[in-house]
Amino acid sequence: MIELKNACCEVFPIIIPDRSSLKSVNFFLVKQGHSLSLIDAGWNNDECWNGLIETLNKNGFTLKDLTEIILTHHHIDHVGLVNRITSEHPIPVYAHPDSIPRLKRDRHFLVMRVEFYEQLYHEMGCGESGEHHAAYLKKAMERNKQNIIQADITKIIDDPLFNFHIIDVPGHSPDQLAFYDEKQSWLFAGDLLIEHISSNALVEPDLLGNRTPTLLQHIDSLKKCLALNVKCVFPGHGSLIEDPHSLILKRLDRTEAKSERFIQLIKSGISTGSELAISFYKKTYYEQFSLVMSEIIGHLDYLEIKGRLKKELIQGIWHYSVIES
Ligand SMILES: [Zn+2]
Repeated sequence: MIELKNACCEVFPIIIPDRSSLKSVNFFLVKQGHSLSLIDAGWNNDECWNGLIETLNKNGFTLKDLTEIILTHHHIDHVGLVNRITSEHPIPVYAHPDSIPRLKRDRHFLVMRVEFYEQLYHEMGCGESGEHHAAYLKKAMERNKQNIIQADITKIIDDPLFNFHIIDVPGHSPDQLAFYDEKQSWLFAGDLLIEHISSNALVEPDLLGNRTPTLLQHIDSLKKCLALNVKCVFPGHGSLIEDPHSLILKRLDRTEAKSERFIQLIKSGISTGSELAISFYKKTYYEQFSLVMSEIIGHLDYLEIKGRLKKELIQGIWHYSVIES
């Protein structure tokens, strides 16, 4: 069992069971000196709210004792309670600079983001499936208006922040940060590493609308975690991860093995992103379109950067082929 208390820091995990494959949604109260920080803020639902209040009360605190909220990334299952907390108790909210247009649901950014996916799915040869998904994103843009984070958000720029070193760990999301307690070798890592499932590197545009090589970023972020010699990862979902070294190596190995399988499929004559997705994921391509395409595009970009693949635009669609060494 990991000891969650020491002379200068105490962690109170808030672990809310989740029926999905995520198993749980986790966020963390961290007491350091005069500050009581909340790292991430779960879903916007009563289970998470009650979990927060119970954990505060059980340990002799109330909501008014919270001094700030610090976000690992902008995903909705990590920021859910921010509005509810700050409307009752206005405290600073800290996040990566690139989280801000996403959390504030900046119209210009969101329109650009939908256009990014429209073009990307077209170029990957996704045809109707891609058009359907782009239309879904357009509707979601309107439907999710009420999810705007109302509080002012302070950009995390300076390192350290409340005794945490700020570690950039993009890949799962472009704005993902991990907070590292050097004394304890603890890493609050958002969705960088999850014990029971492999975390997805999700394709996203940067603020200028450019695609970033998300899988490569995710691999580099995991390697950063290895180099820090972390003793415990506090993840956004599932169990706390003690001595994450071997789990990270396993994830890195599996990624390489999967890339090799894609290479073999492309060697067999498959050339577009959508063909690759259908051939590898079968009907899951239709059921979980955006996740599957993120995975495929992440691997294609990764293999291209490694010099294993080249691509050619034919009638608006990228065709990939293996570079024989
Ligand atoms: Zn996430």
